[in-house]
Amino acid sequence: MRDSFGRKINYLRISLTDRCNFRCIYCMPEGGIEDKLRHEDMLSLEEIYVLIKDFVELGIDKIRFTGGEPLVRKGVVDLISKVSRLEGVKDLTMTTNGQLLKHMAKPLKEAGLNRVNISLDTLDPVKFLEITRCGDLNAVLEGIDEAVNVGLTPVKINTVLIGGINDNEIRDLIDFTKKGIDVRFIELMPIGEAAGFAEERFVSNDFVLETVGELIPIEREDISSPATYYALPGVKGKVGLINPITCKFCANCNRVRLTSTGKLKLCLHSDREIDLKFALRNDRNIKKIIKSSIWTKEESHHLEDEQYIIRNMNQIGG
Ligand code: SAM
Ligand code: SF4
Repeated sequence: MRDSFGRKINYLRISLTDRCNFRCIYCMPEGGIEDKLRHEDMLSLEEIYVLIKDFVELGIDKIRFTGGEPLVRKGVVDLISKVSRLEGVKDLTMTTNGQLLKHMAKPLKEAGLNRVNISLDTLDPVKFLEITRCGDLNAVLEGIDEAVNVGLTPVKINTVLIGGINDNEIRDLIDFTKKGIDVRFIELMPIGEAAGFAEERFVSNDFVLETVGELIPIEREDISSPATYYALPGVKGKVGLINPITCKFCANCNRVRLTSTGKLKLCLHSDREIDLKFALRNDRNIKKIIKSSIWTKEESHHLEDEQYIIRNMNQIGG
């Protein structure tokens, strides 16, 4: 599928739930989600499968499951097993906080998941609790090991740097690259919960390069990837820098998002949504709606000069 700017759209990110077993300070309110979704407002797993099938038949070949926390959605392994058997799916991935991964990595791999990105902001158990408000660092570290063991590779670690909290751990986190794991630093976005403090706690990715001067730039393998990559000399794992705000990657954007309530979002930083759940439940021509919606995908985002969007990342699907 092409949009009106000629970009090939082949990547769908699906939020399986807005619920999460963590309450990260930049993503979720401390007390959890206030407006809990009613069961009927969420897409069922069967509906998600039907929509994925349509997207795949239209040319989507890369799918990422995210959330909220995708592993807290009951039936996720069965869904992956069905999706992995669809002809045309080349890359099936997940972004997870890793808390449940130790026990789920093997079934996920057997179901056909290719690889995982795991979020990890700190290696200090006290700070981990401060950031996630309820996570267990050890469980996540064991989950990372298990993902590597069962071959959900390449495993990528996603770190959001927060000034004064974890910006002194850059070197320790980069040490994961020595085990063949990619580490990607994502700049804090002023979205939802983080809107109030993102400016004051913002750490530019340039700080990563200043801190670890020996990083060498390496060639970008995938132009649609939002990360620019570096590596320590002689080390296999890569260090990715993702600058969603200071550096736009809109010109090469190949992705669209589906929320757990069935809204198609064409741009992470836009509030515009197309209601595919309504279309599905009212027997509309889904493929036609997907195609015409993708044609209207925004050319670029304007986060610098527009109001911060209200939804948290757990609702959008990060
Ligand atoms: N729960 C899963 C996880 O944490 O990996 C998947 C969903 S989470 C919304 C996806 C990613 O979005 C995580 O890596 C998280 O750190 C990131 N994220 C959430 N809020 C963010 C913010 N305000 N700025 C930058 N990244 C954010
Ligand atoms: Fe949950 Fe992921 Fe948001 Fe943290 S970033 S609260 S783990 S959805």
